[in-house]
Amino acid sequence: MTSVDLESRIAANAARLSADLEAFAAISEPGDGVTRLAYTALERRAHDVFAERMRTLGCVVHTDAAGNTIADLPATEDNGPQSVVGTGSHLDSVAQGGRFDGIAGVVAGMEAAYLAALSPVPRRRRWRFVAFAAEEGARFGQACNGSRMVAGLTTLPDTRRLRDTEGVSMYDAMSEVGLRPDDLAADEWDAAQWHAFVELHVEQGAVLEDAGVPIGIVDSISGSTRLHVAVNGTASHTGATPMHKRRDALVTAASCVLAGDRIAKDSAHHGTRVTVGRLEVSPGAMTTIPGRVEFVVDVRDIDSDRQRTTVEQLAAAYRDAADADGTAIIVDVIADTSPVVLPAVVKDHLAAAAEQHGLGYRLLSSGASHDAQQVNKITPTGMIFVPSAGGLSHVPNEHTDADDLACGVDVLLAALYRLDADE
Ligand SMILES: [Zn+2]
Repeated sequence: MTSVDLESRIAANAARLSADLEAFAAISEPGDGVTRLAYTALERRAHDVFAERMRTLGCVVHTDAAGNTIADLPATEDNGPQSVVGTGSHLDSVAQGGRFDGIAGVVAGMEAAYLAALSPVPRRRRWRFVAFAAEEGARFGQACNGSRMVAGLTTLPDTRRLRDTEGVSMYDAMSEVGLRPDDLAADEWDAAQWHAFVELHVEQGAVLEDAGVPIGIVDSISGSTRLHVAVNGTASHTGATPMHKRRDALVTAASCVLAGDRIAKDSAHHGTRVTVGRLEVSPGAMTTIPGRVEFVVDVRDIDSDRQRTTVEQLAAAYRDAADADGTAIIVDVIADTSPVVLPAVVKDHLAAAAEQHGLGYRLLSSGASHDAQQVNKITPTGMIFVPSAGGLSHVPNEHTDADDLACGVDVLLAALYRLDADE
């Protein structure tokens, strides 16, 4: 029997995957869905569960300065290439999110490690299973923090700059849960040690479900630029101030929201997405004209130049709106990540791995950001998508069928073996 024949007999177990997802889902704030925010005690507890499991499978486990948990399954051959093949995703969630976003990729790694550790198929390289910290931008405005830190894209000064809505800096949040932001530089990954990385993730869209295809292979991931905008007008009495004497910050902000919608929908922006997801009006009283409005803007694009041009166009439109209303406006870029095209060398292995298991696949792009995007700065990286029921994500009823996830793990494991066999 050849190695490939042997590998094909090892199959992921849907019931085991469901049990693991259930265990992580229980580590949550009370309330609907799963709430396990970045750099909180709950996130650390989930990492501890992952670490403990990986130790029982024979992995050497450590937590790095950024809070990423890294589990190394040693090679079984002595004279293999001295480079690492990796997989992983994240364990934090948005507020009242689902149990699959990120976690699916971590439990996929746990299952792949379990199957690989039992299998007689030799491994020439070290296999690294990673649970990244703080992937969701929900708390600090910037996504993929743990993976950005190992890729050297987010460094110590950034942790002092980034703050949550309570004003807590990332530096303090990390320190509070026992992490070591001062040591980030020392834990950046060395490209020379790496061979390749694969992240499995739920699609968070409905392309696979609509097409009836079990496996997605991601060819590109959108970039994202995030803005914080403050509009200053004059708060005064709604009854006593005539319309022509007003400097209403919310009127300006409303023009800004509409300008973003108009720019993203024009013919030059097919594929650009502009969203204002949070807007705070001060003083926020029915009988006071809004004196100050703060809002955040998320600009996503698959085209790097267009992403930055869109930001410039937005800033210009915002200034025009403020000029027209006699208000003042300040636009700050709080996070900026470029889109990436994922390398063919890993995609080809993923396609071959799907074929090995007789599973249909389709190439698609990812509108959401992922840790894979950052890891690709260090080593060639690929992404497997599994179907999301109804395309829903970041909500309590986010769902992926356990059998679909098991198919994804089969492809992941076969891809890891294929990458392991590369020269
Ligand atoms: Zn995710």
